[in-house]
Amino acid sequence: MSWNEFDIIEQVFKRNMVEDDDVITGIGDDAALLRVPANEQLAVSTDTLVNGIHFPESTAAYDIGYKSLAVNLSDMAAMAASPRWVTLGLCLPNHDESWLRGFADGFFRLATEFGVQLVGGDITHGPLSINVTIMGTVPAGAALKRDGVKPGDQIYITGKPGMAALALTLLQGELQRDTGIPDDCLQRLNRPYPRVAAGIALRNIASAAIDISDGLAADLGHLLTASGCGAEINLEDIPLHEGLLLLNDEECWRHVLNMGDDYELCFTVAPDSEQLISNLSEKLDCPISPIGRALAGTGIIWRGSDGDSVTRQSSGYQHFQAK
Ligand code: ADP
Ligand code: MG
Repeated sequence: MSWNEFDIIEQVFKRNMVEDDDVITGIGDDAALLRVPANEQLAVSTDTLVNGIHFPESTAAYDIGYKSLAVNLSDMAAMAASPRWVTLGLCLPNHDESWLRGFADGFFRLATEFGVQLVGGDITHGPLSINVTIMGTVPAGAALKRDGVKPGDQIYITGKPGMAALALTLLQGELQRDTGIPDDCLQRLNRPYPRVAAGIALRNIASAAIDISDGLAADLGHLLTASGCGAEINLEDIPLHEGLLLLNDEECWRHVLNMGDDYELCFTVAPDSEQLISNLSEKLDCPISPIGRALAGTGIIWRGSDGDSVTRQSSGYQHFQAK
């Protein structure tokens, strides 16, 4: 059977995921109508995933659907917003029914888990790319922004950076290993789990937050620049996946600091917060590690195991390289 775009919307995307009185009009009109609850602010973010750039061409439809929503949920997490609604812009090379069903299964699996309602979108014909706009709500003034870091604040990360990067390097054959790709790293690359619960729990606790999409060095750099601060990071305090330890030192740190796609959170909290954060980590069942502290000034000082400063690249993934 050959589908037109209206069939696709009806058959695949018109699903009621959650009971939500704040959706006044969803899919089917010229625009969705949504109610933002009193005393809350609307957080809006958009991300595009392009075939061959944001996911390898061989990626399963399910994983592409999953990841296109996951990366947007991660932005809500970084703002401490509760994700509520999404729109989906699809550019498709063809109307392959089984691909579309696979994509939708991955997308709606996360939408259901996070209580997010698909309220509109667009379908066009062309090279495969997916654009998702996500909307969330957050009590007025409670959002975590990038500009709130103060000198002396402790710096934390969730999870282990570099796992998705290791999977990508192995998948692309740049590195060969008899043991194959570690399952948990492949999972990080294809199905990153957005830290929404951690973001919400950090309201009124963290001073600033960002999600790590382009690599820890670059994204921490954005947080510090927005706040007018510098930082010192103890490399030994960054938890490393055992698969990364098999790389040489330079390659290991390039994966951990300069490659993206982890979708973990990096956040700051006022001094003496270790106990509070360790309790939170346990309650959320989310690994959180202190990795350093913010300083007056600019730039990141990377410290090795002896406490001496070592040189590390500060750049991350960039779509447009300066010439
Ligand atoms: P219009 O031409 O007025 O922009 P469309 O014909 O493109 O509207 O879409 C019809 C309805 O279907 C709209 O409500 C739109 O938001 C929704 N829609 C289109 N594509 C998608 C999609 N991929 N996912 C969810 N809703 C969609
Ligand atoms: Mg219209």
